Amino acid sequence: MSNHTITSPAVHESPFESMLKRFNIAADLLQLGERERAILSKPSKIVIVNLPVRMDDGSTKVYEGYRVVHSTVLGPSKGGIRYAPEVNMDEVKALAAWMTWKCAVVGLPYGGAKGGITCNPKQMSENELEMLTRKYTIALQDIFGVNQDVPAPDMNTGPREMGWIVDEYSRIKGYQPGVVTGKPIELGGSLGRVAATGRGVMTTAMCALEKMGIKPSDCTAAVQGFGNVGSYGALLLAEKGVKIVAISDVSGGYHNTAGIDIAAAMEYVATHKSLEGFTGGSKISNAELLCLPIDILVPAAMEDVITVTNAGDIKAKLIVEGANGPVAASADAILDSKGIVIVPDILANSGGVTVSYFEWVQNRRGHYYTEAEVNAKADPMLIRAFEEVYAASKEFKCNMRIAAYVVSIRRVAKGLKYHGNL
Ligand code: NAD
Repeated sequence: MSNHTITSPAVHESPFESMLKRFNIAADLLQLGERERAILSKPSKIVIVNLPVRMDDGSTKVYEGYRVVHSTVLGPSKGGIRYAPEVNMDEVKALAAWMTWKCAVVGLPYGGAKGGITCNPKQMSENELEMLTRKYTIALQDIFGVNQDVPAPDMNTGPREMGWIVDEYSRIKGYQPGVVTGKPIELGGSLGRVAATGRGVMTTAMCALEKMGIKPSDCTAAVQGFGNVGSYGALLLAEKGVKIVAISDVSGGYHNTAGIDIAAAMEYVATHKSLEGFTGGSKISNAELLCLPIDILVPAAMEDVITVTNAGDIKAKLIVEGANGPVAASADAILDSKGIVIVPDILANSGGVTVSYFEWVQNRRGHYYTEAEVNAKADPMLIRAFEEVYAASKEFKCNMRIAAYVVSIRRVAKGLKYHGNL
């Protein structure tokens, strides 16, 4: 958890450049060979598909979809599918690489991939979304596969979309529930998957607090993003005694120094679809939430919310990255200089893919675990991953983020070596 600086503070760097900057620092520390560095700094496969969808009004719209496989060195590639208007190739490439590092840091037998469709799901009907998801599955039928490439949910996709994918894929190739994870329980989903990423945020936050010598019950926290990751992360942190004083979503932030009732906020969102109108706290902006005087900050919404512009104003002692890439690489040096401890995304939000792995294992075995069994298998894996990253931060005298890359790259590079030279 000591300092390691990044020297070129570009403000508008791309997520993939952010990934590469950290990758290169860790690769230097590891004295990674040229061959490994060259292979691992590029995605192994990029697919772009155009998906015609007949809209409810009879018109046809063509949506652009992506699937990027970054690596299959340690096993089939694994990674979610994101639906959003701003989805683009650079973002998907970064997310795919982060999946490689994330799976490797926990020690899962997977490579990394990511997919996305540039669309605005909020303005589409359920029927249009189903047609779009089926078209995407048909277009990628030879990329996806139980032992090849296994998608999962990400921003704006969930069990419903995964259900459509497994249905369409099985229609074409025969029954294969393990081709996708994050499915509804009735279609072979795993108990514990819905809360798994938030649970990992809580588990790794507890590990960090222990190293920092701080009791959870002495902490306040703010959580940006109140979707799957943020809401369960907040709920489980609160169960550990952390006082959640602010939450937010796309409608803005809600602040209450007496503590927010997270279960009530989740119920509110289940009914109203967003926090808009929530009366459990006074209204603040998302930008203000990030800079509140709190102990723990959980950015759990999107990329690049902490940059050179606001990093100097962050007051939290600990940042636990629920979202992928919430801190731009150019902000790392500023946060380091302030002594802020960061549990990086590839470790903090790895609980989701860990339980996805158990879903895939259960699908392949046709034998299903209870939620308690799933948590009892996943929790120690995250704690062990945290300890390994913490030990690497001491060994290489770097922050936890670079240490997480060190642990991952070391594992993937070894795998690459054992594959041989072809
Ligand atoms: P989600 O769609 O369930 O929730 C996203 C939340 O962020 C919503 O509350 C939304 O209102 C809010 N949000 C959107 N734009 C915002 C903005 N401009 N300002 C503030 N809030 C905004 O998504 P999710 O699954 O919770 O994913 C959140 C992040 O976590 C993403 O970066 C995703 O890649 C990452 N992640 C998710 C999982 C998972 O299992 N769901 C696993 C690993 C990483």
